Amino acid sequence: MASSPKPKFCVDAMLGKLARYLRLLGYDTLYFKDVEDEEILSKCLEETRTVVSRDRGLCKKAIDLNIPIVCFNRSMSTSRLLSCLKDIGLIELNFDPVSSRCPLCNGELVPTQNPPISYGYKKERTYYVCKNCGMIYWVGRHMSTIKRTLGEARVESC
Ligand SMILES: [Zn+2]
Repeated sequence: MASSPKPKFCVDAMLGKLARYLRLLGYDTLYFKDVEDEEILSKCLEETRTVVSRDRGLCKKAIDLNIPIVCFNRSMSTSRLLSCLKDIGLIELNFDPVSSRCPLCNGELVPTQNPPISYGYKKERTYYVCKNCGMIYWVGRHMSTIKRTLGEARVESC
């Protein structure tokens, strides 16, 4: 099997919402909280991940270690952050639930015929289950927020 050309990311604790969006867009994204910089950076080196950070200290260490990094020096909306990553050619903003990853844990999602839910089940819906944490997803009402954010990201520039 050919390996996926999609870049992998490691997002710092200040950018949790961005991490969830990258996962929804299908990018393998780690997100750390309360973890030492050194541990984050060695994982990035090991797994060839690009660091996305607002933490100056972390940015400096990544540069010293020659780890690819996108460093944001100020607070920005999630759509703006996404548009910046798009503008530098790192990501595309095409949402396709089939290739999404679990926004909670970064696990792969697979379609499931028999989701273990009893309330609000609709036969015509496609359900997805996270291979890692077992969370069930479907394309529902919360999609309008996701689509709006991605729509904004498409027209904004960094
Ligand atoms: Zn999961």
